[in-house]
Amino acid sequence: MAMGCVVDIIKTKDLVYEYIRRDEEGNVEGITRAVDEVDVAVRPGEFIAIVGHNGSGKSTLAKHINAICYPTEGSVFVDGKDTADEKHLWEIRRMAGMVFQNPDNQIIGQVVEEDVGFGPENMGIPTAQIWERVDESLSAVGMTAHRKKSPNRLSGGQKQRVSIAGVLAMRPKCIILDEPTAMLDPSGRKEVIRAVRALNDVEKITIVLITHYMDEAIFADRIFVMDKGRIAMTGTPRQIFHRVEELKQLRLDVPYVTLLAHKLRKSGVIKSDTTVLSIEELLDSLDIALPVKHESVGKSVNC
Ligand code: ADP
Ligand code: MG
Repeated sequence: MAMGCVVDIIKTKDLVYEYIRRDEEGNVEGITRAVDEVDVAVRPGEFIAIVGHNGSGKSTLAKHINAICYPTEGSVFVDGKDTADEKHLWEIRRMAGMVFQNPDNQIIGQVVEEDVGFGPENMGIPTAQIWERVDESLSAVGMTAHRKKSPNRLSGGQKQRVSIAGVLAMRPKCIILDEPTAMLDPSGRKEVIRAVRALNDVEKITIVLITHYMDEAIFADRIFVMDKGRIAMTGTPRQIFHRVEELKQLRLDVPYVTLLAHKLRKSGVIKSDTTVLSIEELLDSLDIALPVKHESVGKSVNC
């Protein structure tokens, strides 16, 4: 490695992972190549979104970052440490925290603050420091007011923010979230995405967000599009969502507003070729009289 080079927080090299399916007698029935020759590098502080159709290998790739899965071929490095090396296991699990789809499977404490403290407690952190970490973590996800509550009494979005706080309390460098909003209602989804963005912006934590919602992926620095275990496309949200037809072939959508702009461009209403990612950008690209334009912007902000 060159001097002064920043170590990639996540790096995979020719990563291949195969699930071996066996029958009841243990004979091999078949092999599924879930991750196929993946080479990705994520820099510290980046926000990455991974999108792809069901079964494209997103979760399997994510499990390699947290050393839940080990490569069949190739390697994975977290902060320069090879995940296949057993002596790094606990450090890697602490550095790369994972949040899953269902918050009910992740919360074990009877009281919110107790749940958030479990991770550092298991790490043997002294009590005073555990409380410090619980305070900071709950505050970072906006859940301080609920700290004395039973997790059962929280909404889905609040529970998921408690799960994130639990991971945060271990002071990770990187958080991998595997469809954290899939089970939430629209307001819960917004709460969780807001919290995740703040962790990236304010705490500078590297984020890997797996999502089916394209309007969540627009906040990423880069998007990885997966298809059949491979990385089919990478780029900024603007670059990726420009490729509407290719995404359609991969059975993926673009954000609704992007699609609308795309259709308006095709029919000649919008002249500019710049990809639109928000309502404000759509209004800017429409060549309509200014007073109307400003009124519309006001409305869109208020609604
Ligand atoms: P995604 O998260 O994108 O939906 P997955 O990583 O879960 O994709 O799955 C990738 C492929 O691996 C799929 O073909 C899936 O059927 C297969 N797969 C996932 N988990 C297992 C498993 N435990 N055993 C066998 N095959 C699996
Ligand atoms: Mg998955």
